[in-house]
Amino acid sequence: MSLVDEIKNAIRDVPDFPKPGIMFKDITPIFENQYLCNKIVDGFIKALPNNIDAIVGIESRGFLFGILIANKLNLPFVLVRKSGKLPYKTISQEYSLEYGNAKIEMHIDSLKKNWNVVIHDDLLATGGTAEAAAQLVKQQNANVKAFTFLVELEFLKGKEKLIKHSNNIICLAQY
Ligand code: AMP
Repeated sequence: MSLVDEIKNAIRDVPDFPKPGIMFKDITPIFENQYLCNKIVDGFIKALPNNIDAIVGIESRGFLFGILIANKLNLPFVLVRKSGKLPYKTISQEYSLEYGNAKIEMHIDSLKKNWNVVIHDDLLATGGTAEAAAQLVKQQNANVKAFTFLVELEFLKGKEKLIKHSNNIICLAQY
């Protein structure tokens, strides 16, 4: 079976979560299969460019494969968290949600100038969250070299928002 099929077989669709009309892609069963986890990490690594200086993971499901990829590549892992969660001095970026605004943050000293980074999250929907993460990277004068996602919801056209930051957008499984 191909990696895409294995990922799709493992993902559980949960209708109407967290609210009516949303089909939630539950990736938790993937973490119960250590062999598949290893294959996914290798799948991401194979697709990534060389000369990466850090992996940036978006709270909270972006931490899961984010840290595994970073660790296997021997690279620093940098956390992007929701507002108010990081303990030290932060930079922040607001972005709009379907209703209202949200804010994400990164520690002020996490990235060095001119570093080439990869932004990772579990799922690309509208692209608003990953785009805000890209703005945080740029605020630190670092470069977005690539985005990686386990899943892309193609019909939401999130790639269109990200392409101006990097056209290297790696999604292992599409719906
Ligand atoms: P967006 O900013 O619209 O691209 O949303 C991406 C973020 O929302 C990611 O961190 C996802 O984990 C989460 N998300 C959005 N839609 C879904 C969905 N249908 N299933 C699971 N997670 C989702």
